[in-house]
Amino acid sequence: MKTYLITGGAGFIGANFVKYMLKKYNDINIIVLDKLTYAGNLGTIKKELNDNRVKFVKGDIANRELIEYIFANNNINYVVNFAAESHVDRSIENPKLFLETNIIGTQNLLDVAKAHWVIGKNEKGYPIFRDNVKFLQVSTDEVYGALDRDFPDGKLLIEEKKLTIDNGLSLEELNKVLKDREVIPKIFGKKFFTENTPLDPRSPYSSSKAGADMIVRAYNETYHMPINITRCSNNYGPYHFPEKLIPLMIKNVLEGKKLPVYGDGKQVRDWLYVEDHCKGIDMVINGGKIGEIYNIGGFNEEQNINIVKLIIKIIRELIEENTEYEKILKIEKENINEELITYVQDRLGHDARYAIDPSKTVKELGFYPETPFTVGIRKTIKWYLDNQEWVKEVVSGDYQKYYEKMY
Ligand code: NAD
Repeated sequence: MKTYLITGGAGFIGANFVKYMLKKYNDINIIVLDKLTYAGNLGTIKKELNDNRVKFVKGDIANRELIEYIFANNNINYVVNFAAESHVDRSIENPKLFLETNIIGTQNLLDVAKAHWVIGKNEKGYPIFRDNVKFLQVSTDEVYGALDRDFPDGKLLIEEKKLTIDNGLSLEELNKVLKDREVIPKIFGKKFFTENTPLDPRSPYSSSKAGADMIVRAYNETYHMPINITRCSNNYGPYHFPEKLIPLMIKNVLEGKKLPVYGDGKQVRDWLYVEDHCKGIDMVINGGKIGEIYNIGGFNEEQNINIVKLIIKIIRELIEENTEYEKILKIEKENINEELITYVQDRLGHDARYAIDPSKTVKELGFYPETPFTVGIRKTIKWYLDNQEWVKEVVSGDYQKYYEKMY
């Protein structure tokens, strides 16, 4: 029976990970530790909280006493650190909070875990850690900085393969990564981020995540602590707080509000369905070589403006298919069109392009994203249409009140 401490487990990816793990394994215990900031919602894991394998603790990863208490009272094998301030726009407003949670909080978790996991010293003075423990830091491709857009309109990946894939995936491996894709994905530049790309973060958010990654590595180098770092591209899927691009645009369309697109909207992001990210993290926990970094992503680049146009198109199609959805519209369905898009002043220091090369994770761990974008984006939009109550609750802060009542 392994025990996982999942921090940030009431947030978007953390909650999806809790669900994924409980479904996949019977013989695990999970402690969810979450500060329940605006981005954390107990409603997201309401069902899971009734599972007797799950405990919930409200608290801050930077709180030494609390983390000590959790370790002293539970036999923790794995820390999976999702807890973070995660929104770039908010980091531009308040960088300090990002440093406190993302860097100091991570160091605090590392330090307490180390104190509880060390069982002795070797002849060179390095700590010896007990078996079956690991600290997994969930990081982001944003720590690598930004890439050029050499092909502004995109080119097909397979055609450009030889030019672009630094790690040299064979065509067979690449096809596995692209499994079941109806459409061969486009790429927008010659270069991809590999695990060896030097860190070059640009925003307060990505700088704080890079700082966290470095301290995690330092614990491995200095104390031989068993760690892995995963760096993933942009996630999308259910339970995403509606301040990020995809859920915000869905919410605004349904409410008949303008769809604000930064700058010219041509910024390129690499999108991964959240469940595929969860699968990748599980693979790294179980198979990742100690001390290594693994990129998780799947060659799915798209410009922000095209994502927004696709959301409009799919919402229209879903409403045509099921007229029940008309009831949740605050706009005439005829008015759901690209005229809703409004271009706003670009974000300060907006990165042009992110693109992950997951070749190492594919080769070493057999990772590939299972969900084609065309399927995942439809599933996601349908989930939001079917779960309007969740959206209302998270934006109104009702779940903070719910928490006060429940715990
Ligand atoms: P999120 O903002 O939805 O969730 C973060 C969670 O952490 C929330 O539940 C919040 O309450 C909690 N939290 C914040 N500060 C805390 C603290 N001091 N102590 C304890 N809990 C705290 O974020 P997300 O999108 O689920 O991202 C999770 C992790 O994955 C982050 O570390 C992020 O950097 C990384 N990541 C995200 C993406 C993405 O596309 N969303 C991509 C790659 C990596």
